[in-house]
Amino acid sequence: MSLKGKTAVVTGSTSGIGLAIARDLAKDGANVVINGFGAPQDVEKERAAIEADFGVRCAYSPADLTKTDQVYAMVQLAVDTFGSVDVLVNNAGVQHVDPIEDFPNDKWDLIIALNLSAAFHAIQAAIPHMKKAGWGRIVSTASAHSLVASPYKSAYVSAKHGLAGLTKTAALELATHKITVNCYSPGYVWTPLVEAQIPDTMHARGLTKEQVINDVLLAAQPTKEFVTVEQVAALVSFLCSDAAASITGANIAIDGGWTAE
Ligand code: NAD
Repeated sequence: MSLKGKTAVVTGSTSGIGLAIARDLAKDGANVVINGFGAPQDVEKERAAIEADFGVRCAYSPADLTKTDQVYAMVQLAVDTFGSVDVLVNNAGVQHVDPIEDFPNDKWDLIIALNLSAAFHAIQAAIPHMKKAGWGRIVSTASAHSLVASPYKSAYVSAKHGLAGLTKTAALELATHKITVNCYSPGYVWTPLVEAQIPDTMHARGLTKEQVINDVLLAAQPTKEFVTVEQVAALVSFLCSDAAASITGANIAIDGGWTAE
């Protein structure tokens, strides 16, 4: 319970990786602000489950993080509700796949706004509260695409490389304040989003489920196994612990060897 009495804000935590991170930080004792889109009854179910399962308090911010004022409002909600923001996890992100010459400008703007600028504004808003508390942990979900590129993912690769650069810069600015800033870079993580793509790809390419998993999805992942949300959440919880106080400015790959090649 190393985070007992602390407050964690986790963006994009109504599903997938973010939800697993929010639940793990709650398990460590933190009160949590969850954020993201979803049907109100589904979000309320997850929010109430965090409180019931871990005996902490959990609030929901419906902020659309492509809007700067809503990013600030999300951080302020944490301060108003729980008195502080000690842990910030920038996790919300979307993808769009197209060659550069066909890439829709609105998709470029959306991905840069959500996957990069929202993290900048959330860090900006959280810093004064962390400095005041004399302790803080900022962790961002980057991607293997913060370290290497793939064709047709120009906006995503640019935003994730930017997030890794923002992480290093913030780490240096905050190094003497007991505030660490890190990002981690997953390969393919098994989430409902990934699972849902499999039947369509099987159909479109005439492949079996195993072929889709090994030859399409995990083609770049030497272990031929998905990263799990539990593994990601455990890494984030470690980065938020006192044992990780000397890890700052790092970009930690959790990708089954993808970026080792
Ligand atoms: P997901 O779609 O399950 O979760 C995305 C979350 O972001 C959801 O909660 C969604 O509601 C929220 N969101 C979307 N638009 C938003 C907006 N405008 N404002 C606020 N919230 C918004 O996806 P995921 O796979 O869990 O991805 C989470 C993060 O992990 C992303 O940054 C993604 O780039 C990164 N990532 C995922 C994988 C993977 O294989 N799943 C691999 C590497 C990196």
